[in-house]
Amino acid sequence: MQFSFGSEWDARDAHHRSDQTTLSRLLAQKDTQILPLWRGKPHLQDGHLGWVGGDHPMLRLASQPYLYLGRHDGSARFAADISTWEPDALDRTALAMFTDTSIQIHPSAPHDAYFGELRLAMNELPPAEAALAATARALFNWHRTHGFCAACGHSSDVSASGWERLCPACGAKHFPRTDPVVIMLVTHGNALLLGRSHGWPERMYSALAGFIEPGETMEAAVAREVREETGLVAKDIRYIASQPWPFPNSLMFGCSARCANTELTLDDELEDARWFSREEVLESWAGLRSDIMPARKGSIAHYMIGRWLGGHV
Ligand SMILES: [Zn+2]
Repeated sequence: MQFSFGSEWDARDAHHRSDQTTLSRLLAQKDTQILPLWRGKPHLQDGHLGWVGGDHPMLRLASQPYLYLGRHDGSARFAADISTWEPDALDRTALAMFTDTSIQIHPSAPHDAYFGELRLAMNELPPAEAALAATARALFNWHRTHGFCAACGHSSDVSASGWERLCPACGAKHFPRTDPVVIMLVTHGNALLLGRSHGWPERMYSALAGFIEPGETMEAAVAREVREETGLVAKDIRYIASQPWPFPNSLMFGCSARCANTELTLDDELEDARWFSREEVLESWAGLRSDIMPARKGSIAHYMIGRWLGGHV
């Protein structure tokens, strides 16, 4: 797989999520692996996730219950949210950046282990581990932002070992939210349209993207977003691949589209958008351009642009 979060681990084992007897037995097993996350950042070690055993001191601060992720590589896998931990000398400015390059080391962590930004680690992790971390990150973010029942306003409880929330007042069940997004490779002959949003790292250009609205097909969303953001008329819209994107809760549908016209009328959402020739994009990938930086490795944008460069789109 040439982009992150595109693989699955061995088994999600969904039918055991509400089975307390099995979950208690799994948690008591010595080989059970638990992934701590701190404020959306997975625990990392040596190019892998930094799994710990169930009796590790770091887990004393974990919210209950743990998230049951299922089985991988012969053992049960859980994730634990330890966001209440307050590291010493925390750099809050770094945490708020588009890409948080800071790391946090828990005093009880094994040698070389730290909490780090998944955007930076995603391309280094083995694919199944990246998917496990993405799932835990998305679910913990959902719990953090959906603490109250949307039907009656009462505070709700985590249930089904992290895969649902249940309202104790009215009995309503709430399920994790995933926001569908289209991301599109818009081309005209030998040229590719790349844009940048306000607040992105300097020189970063990528494929245009936007949320799919209720009642809309993927193809209609591509055409609408392209028209709204650039004034272009998109045709020949085709699906390429999808990628879960846990920043915070999206599922990206990668599509291609061709445009007959090239004149751009940008709306406020974009800071800039430009047509780039195949040669210009190749130069940026080779690090030979000072004006644009290629899309991040591991992202579906990077994957799709690579396919286009190779003549496969
Ligand atoms: Zn309720």
